Amino acid sequence: MNKKIIIANLKLNGNVKYIKKYIEILKKYTYINQKYRILIAPPILYLYLSNLIIKESQIKLVSQNIDKNISGSFTGEISGEMLKDINIKYVIIGHSERKKYHKENNIDILNKIIIAKKFNIKPIICIGENIQDYENKKSKKICKKQIKFLIKNNNINILKNTILAYEPIWAIGTGKNANIKHISKIHKYIIKYITSINKNIIKKIKIIYGGSINKKNIYNIINNKYIDGLLIGKSSWKIENFIKILNIIE
Ligand code: PEP
Repeated sequence: MNKKIIIANLKLNGNVKYIKKYIEILKKYTYINQKYRILIAPPILYLYLSNLIIKESQIKLVSQNIDKNISGSFTGEISGEMLKDINIKYVIIGHSERKKYHKENNIDILNKIIIAKKFNIKPIICIGENIQDYENKKSKKICKKQIKFLIKNNNINILKNTILAYEPIWAIGTGKNANIKHISKIHKYIIKYITSINKNIIKKIKIIYGGSINKKNIYNIINNKYIDGLLIGKSSWKIENFIKILNIIE
């Protein structure tokens, strides 16, 4: 069964006690894993600990970042080799918060994808438009531009075995989710665009949505056939809340 993906992005939240409690509780809800592939992205500092706790569960871990360099004088960074060393299989790349607060650009994003793939870590590549572009009906154009950049500066295979996360910037952390009509229109467009370049690659890509998912909107969004999963920030931070929304879609 092709399971839909649910990713909890814990961002800059938590401590040892919180992480232990979060994963221990999540582990008990084994039935959720029968229908969905559950992934969590704790702060990088807690990935090692999380890896010890998830043992014998189906939960997978996601790194919130990766450096574009393999090793060397890059204070504060985390390498693909290090992530691989502790068995991390996924990484979020190009999140709008990294672009905004850490000035990551398209070249950085491409280089990070290349490095992640080198170490067999699946990139979760975030794309999406800002509010002005959304209001000016340029969402499709912006998404295409972001994907095209990767293909032009590498090749179509850069997208193979990746997860594309459509995350309209205006929907992240704002409480204003994109509506299902808009999301499915963009997902369909992305599928069409990639298929027009290569018919086979699209089978190796998942397209998920992220932006203000909550208990009211999750059911409709996850059940759309063009949506392979969700990236969830705020609504995943309290484990009790995350379990509640998982139960809605169960
Ligand atoms: C995100 O940061 O990727 C995200 C989707 O956050 P939120 O759910 O809080 O909008």
